[in-house]
Order: sequence, then structure tokens, then C-alpha cells
Amino acid sequence: MANVKQKLLFRNKPAVSADRVDGTVARSMNFEKAGRAPRHGKVNGEKEQVRSRRMSLNDSLEGDVRDFLVNEAELHTYDDLTKVNPVTPTTVLKCLQARYSARVFYTHAGCTLVALNPFQPIPHLYSLDVMREYHSAPQPQDFKPHIFIVAEEAYRNVQGQVEPVDQSLVVSGESGAGKTWTSRCLMKYYATVAASSHKCQDTVERIERRVLDSNPVMEAFGNACTLRNNNSSRFGKYIQLQLNSSQLLVGASVQTYLLEKTRVAFQAPNERNFHIFYQMMKGATEKQRQEWEMPYNQKFSWLPNADKTLEEDRLQETAEAMISLGIDTDKRTQIFRVLASILQLGNVNFSLASESQPCDLDEESKGFLYKTATLLQVPVDELQDCLTVRTLRAGKQNVLLKPCSQSECVIRRDCLAKVIYAQLFEWLVTFINNSMCSDNSKWCNFIGLLDVYGFECFLLNNLEQLCINYANEKLQQHFVAHYLKAQQEEYVAEGLEWSFVRYQDNQSCLDLIEGSPTGILSLLNEECRLNRASDAKQFRVRLEKELSGNTRMSWDKFSKQPHFIVAHYAGRVSYQIEGMMEKNKDPVPPELLSLLQKSKNPLLQSLFAASDAEGNGSRAQSKVVTVVSKFKNSLESLMKILHGTTPHYTRCIKPNPDCRPLTFKKEEVITQLEACGIVETIHISAAGFPIRVPYASFLQRYGLITKTSLPAQINNKDGGESGEEASLGPVVQDILNAVLKTSDSSTNPNNNNLMVHCGKTKVFLTHGMLELLEEQRDRVR
Ligand code: ADP
Ligand code: MG
Repeated sequence: MANVKQKLLFRNKPAVSADRVDGTVARSMNFEKAGRAPRHGKVNGEKEQVRSRRMSLNDSLEGDVRDFLVNEAELHTYDDLTKVNPVTPTTVLKCLQARYSARVFYTHAGCTLVALNPFQPIPHLYSLDVMREYHSAPQPQDFKPHIFIVAEEAYRNVQGQVEPVDQSLVVSGESGAGKTWTSRCLMKYYATVAASSHKCQDTVERIERRVLDSNPVMEAFGNACTLRNNNSSRFGKYIQLQLNSSQLLVGASVQTYLLEKTRVAFQAPNERNFHIFYQMMKGATEKQRQEWEMPYNQKFSWLPNADKTLEEDRLQETAEAMISLGIDTDKRTQIFRVLASILQLGNVNFSLASESQPCDLDEESKGFLYKTATLLQVPVDELQDCLTVRTLRAGKQNVLLKPCSQSECVIRRDCLAKVIYAQLFEWLVTFINNSMCSDNSKWCNFIGLLDVYGFECFLLNNLEQLCINYANEKLQQHFVAHYLKAQQEEYVAEGLEWSFVRYQDNQSCLDLIEGSPTGILSLLNEECRLNRASDAKQFRVRLEKELSGNTRMSWDKFSKQPHFIVAHYAGRVSYQIEGMMEKNKDPVPPELLSLLQKSKNPLLQSLFAASDAEGNGSRAQSKVVTVVSKFKNSLESLMKILHGTTPHYTRCIKPNPDCRPLTFKKEEVITQLEACGIVETIHISAAGFPIRVPYASFLQRYGLITKTSLPAQINNKDGGESGEEASLGPVVQDILNAVLKTSDSSTNPNNNNLMVHCGKTKVFLTHGMLELLEEQRDRVR
């Protein structure tokens, strides 16, 4: 407990030393800034140079100006990035770096929380005592920035002053940045502070336990070791924690997005399959090994890098969590058999086929196929037929059998594994929901936790990245709207009339992607509906025909591969078209589906029962719902939910690419600040008045321009009370008038840049205006 108290600092005011704790507020920095706008190029070039020289941290500035703008030695004490003066990407970066070196991992950025990943356990930072400390504090926001402040703010907001308001906590960042860790932390927080009383629930597993137990299960099945994160979530998720009218956690539900099912049958070099397979391989008992056909020395081609030891490889923990969620012994047996069958299937290889004969299997593959069929509980000869022969239907009666080529067999094999795994994952999610969800009458409000993949830009990007980046555009738009609203509210409080009409949001990019009928997704769907032999070049031509005038869309003339480039808010991404149509259609041969329906395994039967209604292959095919249509729908319903809630944003940052403890790489961080919208936020705020100066501070610094000094009674009071501050308005106005008079349009062609408004207690300035004031001040000194 003492821990938090020692760390107690005043938010929004830079602290200088421990003496802040007992209430001394230093006045080293009374200027508040929210950012600036050089990116849109509206700033006069010469002025911009002068400004960047003055604002660059590395330049040797005249001592007092530097103090006035930024005090480098104290950077680590800034609890809110929007208060760093000036707010530029460089100063923000320096501030985060200074804090990281001082082992301070959370920093506010206005209405956002920035979380830097320490990549090592930080003792006591997340303990129960710390949770309770934040929970019981009268003003948690006065404590040091922490994820628990966000958690507590949402928890208090949900009660609402007039009526309860649903909340959502949006956690974003690139892979390995700490999103899942943060979500887990938030769940633990609510499972602790919103736990129901301990009386009645001896027999029923407590709901908090179930909510927490859903994590290891979903992570075992949905996470994998990748190059960027040993425990990377390969799906997005939105969890709703349901609270009753007494603010107690009474249930939860989870919605998942875009599981990366290709990983079951393909793992990039040095990456791994989903954790669950390794857990089985490493943690099975002798009996289970026999049941699952998994002897110690067996090599599975879909189980690469099995020698890597990870803390995630714990079968026992997953099994216990499954039990606690209510998955009974029979179901668990069926699940593990299905999983084991996938590993056997991966070892089945096909020989080259002739025109008329289906591919053959060598003896070893036959053995694996037999084990697959046994575990799936389907007839082995039918399994082989399904993998190697295509059934073509002409009308209702005529059936034509056509042997598949070797590569087609491989596609079918992989497809079988993927469809089984994806259905199993969905079944688990549904089961978890049934186990955690309370009936609607029991809960009245929720806190939603969104843990989704951040913006992605790889060397090769395809449909997955398009979907992920589309989701990020949507979230960014939501964030910007919320942020602008918050800014607007401050202006209103200060009596300013101002609207951010000058700010261009990312709607044009969203139009390009989701527009109908000529957005990328619509065109892609149309191309898939035409069902002609997928031709990437044709699609590329169509895109160019429809979208070449769009400023967000471009093509690299020198690239040989068909592709298109989208200018996202976070940067330009080139998407390859090859394979995109196939991924979007995501076809499952109907023979495979009917085979699975015949399985004796009750779980498999139920997994594939739904598609039974679609009848034979031809009907099922005509009803194909594409991947992007499904994704667009689920994203739209997510956005609808988010719009009905009060959002809280946490941006997780990965300080180095190698997951090394306490290592801060500037280039890495700045790219992420750009990608997660922090830099963008800085630019947005610059569309208004990025600099806000309390009247007293203004007079102290610029009074000498008109030879006015700060009234003694205010000077003694460290800045003055707001009532007195307001009385300084006319004097401040005089100084501004004097300064503006000197800047006629001949010397200052860019008058747009010289804007100023006097609020009730503060002056609101543009950077141009600050620059002018500084020049005048230099002149009279
Ligand atoms: P993401 O979900 O963004 O891909 P994770 O949440 O899985 O990333 O985090 C990656 C790893 O970073 C975790 O496994 C953990 O080791 C470490 N990590 C993340 N956040 C923290 C934290 N706050 N304290 C200590 N370690 C952390
Ligand atoms: Mg994750």
C-alpha cells in the first residue's frame, strides 16, 4: 500500500521532486499545449524553420526560452504528454524515453493512456493491494498514471451521475505491445473490485473465476508464438463484463474476430502453431499419448519448433480452466481427439497424380491417414476419396468424379484442418459464452474490453491486413470524433466558439475501402461472385478503372506483382492481389463437409450440423458469404456497440522489436506513435489552439512587451486563483493587440496562422501566434 502513496503525483502538472507529494506545486510550466500542425503544410516555410529550430530539443536555446518551452531534465516527470511544451513527436518521444528509463510505464496523453511494455515483471505494480488502493481513492486520477485509473474511471462512470452509461476500454497497439496483458489486467481488476459477496455461491463456480478462466482456454487455442510475440493472439476479441445495479460482476460475454486459421496448416519459419498442440505434445500422460497417437519421438510437420520451451505450454492449466468453465470429461476427450487428428493429417503427403488416376499415398502417409480417420471417427477410404477426388454435379442426378492434382490435394488437406479448427474455436467461444453469460434480466450495464490487432504493414500484405487495417481506420475515426468532442468541451468551458471544421478526418479512406458500389471490398466481392477463374491482373485492372482518381489509392509503377496501395491514416500499405479472391471466397469442398457430418464423434457432428441445412454442394456454394462481408458485418455491429458507450483508449507501445526488458528504441516507438494515432492526435489538436496559457503566466512572460507587470497580489500567489486570473483578461488583450498591430499582412502573409482567443482564464494560441509573441519579446528585451 505504501507503494502507491510513494508514487502519488499530481496529474497534469509536472512534478519536480518528492516534495510534490505534500502538496507543493512547482510552477516551472504553466503553459498547456496540445500539439501543432506542421504535417498539413499550412505553415509558412521560413517560420516553420525558425519554429522547429526553437522547438528542437537538441538545439541550444537561450536558457530562459528553453525553460519556458521545455525542461529536458524534468521530462520524466510529465504525467501527461499533452502538457509537454511544445508537443511535437520529438518531445513526446523524449518524454516517453525519459519515463521509461525512470521505470515509469504509463503516461496520459489527454484522454488516452500510453502504456510502454517493460518486458519484465514489475513487482507490486499490479498487486491486489494496488488495485484496492486505486479503487478506494477519492480521486484516483491524482495518482500516478496506471491502467487501474482507466479501469476505475470506467467503473465509476458506469454508475453515471444521471443514469448508468456503458463503457468500453479500447486497447490497441502492435503485436507484442501488451494489449492482451492489459486486457487480462483489466479483467483481474474487475473480477476483484466488482466481485459479488462470498455467501451464496459455494456450489456454482463463481462467475469471476469463469471470466478469468476463459483467458487460458482462449489463449491456448487462439494464441501462438510468432516472431514478434511468444504469446501472440491470432484473433481479435471484445469482452463485455456485465454488471448488475449494485455494480457487481454477474456475467460476461465474448465476441471474437478473424481467427488466423491458416496457421493450423502453415507456420512461417521460426513461428509455431497454436499453443494447444504443443501443450498436448508436452503435457500428455502415457494414456493420452496412446489415445492421441502421439508417441514421444513422433515428428509432426505442423508442429515446428516444438523444442522451444515456453511458459504457455501448460496443458494442465488449460485442462483445469476447461473443467472450471464446465466442459465435461466426454467433451474434453472429443476435443483432444479432434485436435490430435489435425496433427496426423498434417503428416499425410500425396504423390504426383496422373490425368485419370487420383494421387496415391505412400505407406507412411497411409498410416497417418488411417490414424486421422480413426481419431475423426470417419471411414478411412471415404476420407482418402474426399481428399483426392472432386465430385462435380451436373443437375440433380449426374455426378462426375475428377481426380485432383497433387497441389489440389494439398489444398483440400489444409482446408480440412482449417475448417475443423475454426469450427472448434467457434464452438469453444460459444461454450465459454454460455458458461459466463448471465441472463438479460440480471445485468443492466456493461464494461467492454476490446483487444484487437493494431495497424499492420508487412513486406507482403493481403486480405488479412486489409481487414485489420480497415478495422483500425474505423476505430481511429471513432477515436478522433471522441477526442475532438473532448477538445470542444474545453473550449466551451472557456467560453470559446470554435469548431474543428479545418480538420480532415479519415472518412475518405473509409469510403475507399467500404464504399458501395465502388469501394475495394465491394469490388472484391463482385469479382468473387462472378466466379471466374481468379485472375489477379483482371481485378487490378478493374480497381484501376474504378478507383484511379481516388487520392487515397495508388500503384507502384515498378512493381511486377499485381497490387494496390492504400494511404491509411497510419501510413501507406501495399496489398498484393494474388490470392486475395481465393482468401475472400474461402471455399470448403462440400465433400469434406458431408464427410465430417458422418463422423461418430458427437462434437464433430454438432460442429458441422449447421451446414447440413444448406443441403448438397451446389446450394451451399451459391450461398457463399465472403470473408470480407462477414468481417464488415461484425465490425459494423462492434462499432454500433462502441458508439453507445463512453470510450477509454489505451495505446500499448512495444519499445523494442526483440521483446528485450527495459530497452527503448526511438525509431520503433515513433512509428508506433504514428500508427496508433498519438501523433495524429497532436496534429488534430493543432487544428484548433494547441497552446493554452493561463493569464498570469502570459503576463509574466509577455508583460514586458507593453511594460506591464503582473499585479503583486497575483504574483505572490503562484499564478493566482481563477477569479483573479479572469480579471487579467483586459491587460492580456492589450498585449495581444499591440503584438498583432506589428504584424501587418506584408510581414506576415500567413495570417491564418496567427490566431488567438481569450477564454475565461486562459489565452488560446496557435503556434504562429506564440512565435510572434516570442519575437516581440526578444525585440523589447
Ligand atoms: P499483444 O497482445 O499486444 O500482442 P501481449 O499482451 O501478449 O502483447 O504482451 C507481450 C508480452 O509482453 C507478454 O507476454 C509479457 O511478457 C510482456 N508484457 C506486456 N505487458 C506487460 C506489463 N505491463 N508488465 C510486464 N510484462 C508485460
Ligand atoms: Mg494479444
